[in-house]
Parts: sequence; structure tokens; C-alpha cells
Amino acid sequence: MIKINENFHKLQASYLFSDIARRVAAYQQAEPDRDVIKLGIGDVTRALPAACVKAFHGAVEEMADDSTFRGYGPEQGYDFLREAIAREDFQARGADIHMDEIFVSDGAKCDSGNFQELFAVDNRIAIPDPVYPVYIDTNVMAGRTGAWSDGRYEGIVYLDATRDNHFVPDIPKDSVDLIYLCFPNNPTGATITKEQLGKWIDYAREQKALILYDAAYEAFIQDPSLPRSIYELEGAREVAVEFRSFSKTAGFTGTRCAYTVVPKDCTAYTKAGEQVSVHSLWNRRHTTKFNSVSYPVQRAAEAVYSPEGKAQVKELVSYYLKNAKYIRDKMIALGYECTGGENSPYIWIDGKADSWEFFDRLLNEAGVVCTPGAGFGSCGRGYVRISAFNSFENVSEAMTRIGRVL
Ligand code: PLP
Repeated sequence: MIKINENFHKLQASYLFSDIARRVAAYQQAEPDRDVIKLGIGDVTRALPAACVKAFHGAVEEMADDSTFRGYGPEQGYDFLREAIAREDFQARGADIHMDEIFVSDGAKCDSGNFQELFAVDNRIAIPDPVYPVYIDTNVMAGRTGAWSDGRYEGIVYLDATRDNHFVPDIPKDSVDLIYLCFPNNPTGATITKEQLGKWIDYAREQKALILYDAAYEAFIQDPSLPRSIYELEGAREVAVEFRSFSKTAGFTGTRCAYTVVPKDCTAYTKAGEQVSVHSLWNRRHTTKFNSVSYPVQRAAEAVYSPEGKAQVKELVSYYLKNAKYIRDKMIALGYECTGGENSPYIWIDGKADSWEFFDRLLNEAGVVCTPGAGFGSCGRGYVRISAFNSFENVSEAMTRIGRVL
């Protein structure tokens, strides 16, 4: 008899996006003549940069000819892409990262979900609240938590991100082994300073812990004093892994390309206390379970670092940031407290009401869809997230409508 992994039964069904879809469908049925503007799900809406499309086409042509055709590539990614990433995203910013520490993949979702596989089930895990749900659910699947109780899983050290700490969690009093951090944050849009991040690195070093740092939104950082990579800080090479993605930076959500940085200095320990290289473990896992990203997609990603690609990506990011500023300024003018939207595509708004009540109000009275903060964790109650990923025309129409009803 085939038995299931019982941990899957602990998972709470995520009703968030299905609940949103159900409410939107009901509204559209009741109001068939009113269009709905969706500022809910964090998916990009604009086309790939022209430089990426050109490189993509060129690589497809190579695949169409026997003399230039390529089959399986290196599991860790082609050197041309790994070199460009190491040089442009790290060395150019003074971060000491080398190409053989870059693992190209098809998504920061898979990598941030899979990385925990390397570590023992009895590790203590610290996870922010509110949170990108992948970090929690993958640890539940792996059996690192107890049951769901009062809106949280037993056994996880939750790092509360609230108004009081400006949505940057405090270092826990408990001792932990694996720490998830995400900046600029989804869903709150909050950013972390070098000083604050430095304290996390010190803590991780003291604890012999590892930080999994999700920097999927780093391209939205405009303030030059904020770290775009954890490796801009001293000591991070020994205690941090970083996840990056071309999804939001260059519109690759449907094209799929991302990467994970695992420095060779990162260490974990055996039960007996012997040091083990996290890089070797991830390399073993990655090469066993993954066959890399298609050649044309890697060529398209490489084009992000060409002079034209850089200019086009900058324009793309600026476009969404203009939307974000517009949303933020309007909500503040309407008397709502906002976080994010300056160095991030998300605006986290204190709705001064229950998240779902506020969501229903925006939907039913303004025809605008946002995301209720309660869906990201118990600290998200009372908040909603508005995403800047849409056309400026839709964003300005949405804010005009919201202005009429709030
Ligand atoms: N990390 C965070 C914080 C995200 O918000 C997302 C996507 O929304 C991802 C990772 C996933 O990125 P990818 O498209 O590379 O899987």
C-alpha cells in the first residue's frame, strides 16, 4: 500500500488567490458592464526587453541548424551567463562572488523552496510574517513543523514584521539554524539597511546558522545606500545564500530564468560537528535533480547585461516604479499609512479595517483588485498589498476610482 507523506496533510490550503478569483467573478457577474483593474497578483505585464528578444531569436536560429545546435548544457548554467552575472551583478558592485558560485535555474521559487532539502529535519527555522508562502510550505512538507494552530505552524520561529519595527524583523531571542530574509520584501515592500543586515550576519555567524536571502526584487532599489546584495556586507560569504531572478527585473515570469549564489565559504555541520561545504551539497543536489535552463532562455538572460539590455531593463523597472510612486502618493494623500513603493513594486497599506473588508470595498465600490494582507500571515491582518505591475493608464484609473470611494 502506497503511503503519503503525512506532512502534506498539515499544509493549510491556500485560499488566498482562489478566494480573490471567486470574489472577482461574483462581482463581474453582478456588474457585467464595469471593468475590473487587477493590481493583485505580482505578475509583470510588459513585454521582454528588445535586446532579450533579439538574443532569444538568435539562439533559436542556432538550435535550428545542425552545425550550431546544442543539446544538454551544463547543469549549473552556461559559462557565458554565469560570467556575466558574477561580473555585472556582484564584482561591479564590490561583492566578491565568482562565476562558479552561481547556479542558474528556472526560478527563485523552486530554489528558495528546494534549498531546505540540504539540511536536517530538526533544524530550527526562522521565517518572517508576513511572508512569501513558499518558505513556510516547503518546510512543512519536509516535516520541520508541528500542526497548524491559531494561524501558525508549531515549531517555526516567526519573525514578526510590523509597524513597530518598520517591517524589518528583529533578531530572535531564541537560537535558530536557518533564517529566511527577503528584501525588498514581498509583500510589504520594506527594505533593509546595511546596518540592519549586518546585525543579521553577525547573529548568523554567532549561531553557526545560515541565511537564505531572497533578493528577487533587488533591481527596484533606487536608494544607493541600501544593499542590493547581502554580499556587499562583510562576513556574508560564510553564512548566506542569495536567490535572484530575472522574473521581475526583465519580465521573465513566463520565460523562466533565475539563479542562486552559493559562496564556497558557506559552511554547515554534520551531527559530529564536522564542517561541510554548502556549495558542494547544493552542487550535488542541483546536478542530480536539474538539467538547467534552455539555451535560448540563457542567451536571452545574458542580453540583460548588454549595453542595450541594461538600458531597457532600467526603463522597465522605472516604468513600474513610477506606478508604485503614484499609488503610494495617492494612498498617503487619502490618509493611509503606506510602506514600500519607493524601492519596491509593492505598496503595503494599513487599511484601518479587516483585510478582506477593505479588499471587498475596493472591489465592489471601485472595481479594483488588491491582495488582502491576511493571506501572507497573521501579521498581515488589517493590511492590503497593491502591486505596481500594470500599465500606467490602468494604475491611474484605479487610483481615481479608489479616490472616489475612500
Ligand atoms: N521570491 C519572491 C519574494 C517572489 O515574490 C517571487 C515571485 O513572486 C519569487 C521569489 C519567484 O520568482 P521566480 O519567478 O524566479 O520563480
